[in-house]
Amino acid sequence: MPEISKHNTPMNPLSDRINSLTTSQTLAMAALARELKAQGKDIISLSLGEPDFNTPDFIKAAAKKAIDENYSTYSPVDGYLELKEAICRKFKRDNNLTYTPAQIVVSTGAKQSLYNIAQVMINPGDEVILPAPYWVSYAEIIKIAGGIPVEVPTSVESDFKITPEQLAHAITPKTKMIWYSSPCNPSGSVYSREELTALSEIILQHDNLYVVSDEIYEHINFSGTFCSIASIPGMFDRTITVNGVAKAFAMTGWRIGYIGAPEVIAKACTKMQGQVTSGANSIAQRATITAVDADPSVLNDMVAAFQRRRDLVVGLIQDIPGMKINVPEGAFYVFPDVSSFFGKTLRGKLIQNADDFSMYLLSEANVATVTGDAFGNPNCIRFSYATSEEVLTEALRRIKEALA
Ligand code: PMP
Ligand code: GLU
Repeated sequence: MPEISKHNTPMNPLSDRINSLTTSQTLAMAALARELKAQGKDIISLSLGEPDFNTPDFIKAAAKKAIDENYSTYSPVDGYLELKEAICRKFKRDNNLTYTPAQIVVSTGAKQSLYNIAQVMINPGDEVILPAPYWVSYAEIIKIAGGIPVEVPTSVESDFKITPEQLAHAITPKTKMIWYSSPCNPSGSVYSREELTALSEIILQHDNLYVVSDEIYEHINFSGTFCSIASIPGMFDRTITVNGVAKAFAMTGWRIGYIGAPEVIAKACTKMQGQVTSGANSIAQRATITAVDADPSVLNDMVAAFQRRRDLVVGLIQDIPGMKINVPEGAFYVFPDVSSFFGKTLRGKLIQNADDFSMYLLSEANVATVTGDAFGNPNCIRFSYATSEEVLTEALRRIKEALA
């Protein structure tokens, strides 16, 4: 008798690929918080990373105009030429990078940009170095492509940044890429030009080693400096620069991300996208021209508000015995180390790890956070502080009380 496949029966119709995929913990926690709220619970959600501001009016006006001008048909797969030209101007203005439109691909969010890159660059068995903590979806996007994520751990003591020695040690003949974000989701850390130069020296010792530089939090940066690794001598041809409008322009739902990359990689991403989703939403693309052409100073008020919240939250967390925290220089997350609570019993509940800690905060403080495990650091939890100062103050008051 031939063996009956256990994978293709009505009982288990799903592929091994999806069965082995982990659900996005950020989205899962946000959904759980929403569900508990709908049941009438007074939940404060600090789980999802999305600005609580509205999309600026000048961008909304551009979208309305695009509808009236009938931008309602398929766009070119890699994006409207006018948008790609505007993105080139943005890369020049903000990052001193000279891309041509043929090196730009516009996608349905930076998430799709990252997915495209994984699909077109990673062969099964290729290793991808992830300085940990890393953004939740990197590891899974890499695994879907058959790649092997290789975590390089950091801690609150090293400001969650890797050293050149750690990088050199992690590289093997199978290493294909390094993926990182700066400002970092979830740690908020920002790599300086000097730090990136030192890492680049290691990278450039290896042929065929590429970097994904996720710069989606570029403008939400309080450090006063920002460096694109592609601008470091020798790195332009080794880097795929990923960015988008979701965070800086409070456009998470509009779903526009983009890359600047060596042309051969950009072309491959376009080929991939052409078979999967086609060009990104036409109206959102037209609005994005206005967004990326705007002087970044239009974001000053929003960034100042984030900085005030950062200061508030860091101060309140420093006031909670047992939590260790760095001072993040960008993005809108804090990532305290809560490992001093592991092994303790609070209100009859044993806290063994960051998952337990995060669930404890949900049940006892009614505050939703995300476990550090999801980001490759099992000692920490992530709070998004993209909400008002009043809400943040109340959330941290509840947490302090629940941990007392
Ligand atoms: N990269 C990082 C570091 C992020 O935090 C996010 C958050 N959504 C993304 C990429 C994806 O962005 P988008 O919403 O444009 O898909
Ligand atoms: N990037 C945000 C976060 O980390 C949005 C959620 C997501 O896309 O996973 O919370």
